[in-house]
Amino acid sequence: MPRDIRLPENDLAALATGFLLSHGLNAPQAHCLAGILAASQRDGSLSHGLQRLPGTLDTMMHPRFNKHADPAPESVSPAVVRIDAQFGFSCLAAERGIEALIEKAGKVGIGLLAVTNGFHSTALWPLVERVAEAGLVGLSMNPTHAWVAPAGGTKGLLGTNPLAFAWPRKGRPPYVFDFATSAASRADIAMHRNAGKEIPDSWGVNLQGEPTTDPAEVLAGAMLPFGGHKGSAIATMIELMAGPLIGDRTSRQSQHFDQGANAAPCHGELLLAFSPDIIGGAAADEGAESLFSGFSDQNARLPGDRRYRMREASDREGIAVSAVLLERIRDLIEK
Ligand code: NDP
Repeated sequence: MPRDIRLPENDLAALATGFLLSHGLNAPQAHCLAGILAASQRDGSLSHGLQRLPGTLDTMMHPRFNKHADPAPESVSPAVVRIDAQFGFSCLAAERGIEALIEKAGKVGIGLLAVTNGFHSTALWPLVERVAEAGLVGLSMNPTHAWVAPAGGTKGLLGTNPLAFAWPRKGRPPYVFDFATSAASRADIAMHRNAGKEIPDSWGVNLQGEPTTDPAEVLAGAMLPFGGHKGSAIATMIELMAGPLIGDRTSRQSQHFDQGANAAPCHGELLLAFSPDIIGGAAADEGAESLFSGFSDQNARLPGDRRYRMREASDREGIAVSAVLLERIRDLIEK
């Protein structure tokens, strides 16, 4: 019976950092990526937790990957900051750009951070949560690879394009949602394949463009967006906003850039911040809290609630990681 081992967050982050450093990644990228993976594991966001670590080796083997990236933010206008990830992991560029974004939004009411040329494979909630901790509303999005057919089509064109949003709340954790705009995440479909389970026929189509319940056929064919034409349009907006708008790749261009390396998608990432204090004043907070109380009135949970509960449990008892995964990671550390 596979078992879990519980570790403190610092130990987990140190293990992940050691893994990445042993493969030649520079210390700033290693610390940043390890911290995000450990936080995802802590919050029970397992698809973007420690299990991503072995896959970073494929990404670091990409001929354009830069293990020595040292990105620096550039102020483009009173509201816009841009940072080139220099073909390293995008999380370091995002981390280095976010302070400037928060400062700009705190001054002019709105800020935009454009991260370009980053290999991206992490969840988006850590970024928007960080923005909300500064009292701002955060919105983030990025393209991925052209795995998803547009509504009405049968071939991959759009990415699984995650969208994350955070609203700050006084004395409570922010309201946060973060999900892919495909009907299911690619990791979910792969997990069904590995477990020999069928998937709903609304998740994707086979190579002939027909709906199928076989996850392997969908992975070879095309995934579908959530919500039909509505999800398709939102995913297209994400392509445009975090692609051409900031001068970076669409999912199709990112896939072409991969050249079969099986690396994480390399593309842009957009992070927007809005100041409710400047834009709406006291009414913003009142209106939001009144809306949230409508959820609790009918016992409907808010997105983020499960993650915050997992976080509390992990802080109390240690973070659960599968013993098999831990052993695999330790075996892959370069001696
Ligand atoms: P899910 O479909 O699991 O949805 C997750 C979101 O919905 C969370 O905010 C979750 O809150 C909330 N949620 C889930 N169930 C409920 C419910 N019953 N009531 C209210 N809220 C609910 O996510 P995905 O599988 O689509 O995406 C998972 C992760 O994958 C995301 O973090 C995303 O950023 C990441 N991703 C990253 C990509 C990349 O380019 N790097 C590409 C695609 C996805 P809670 O957490 O509290 O459960």
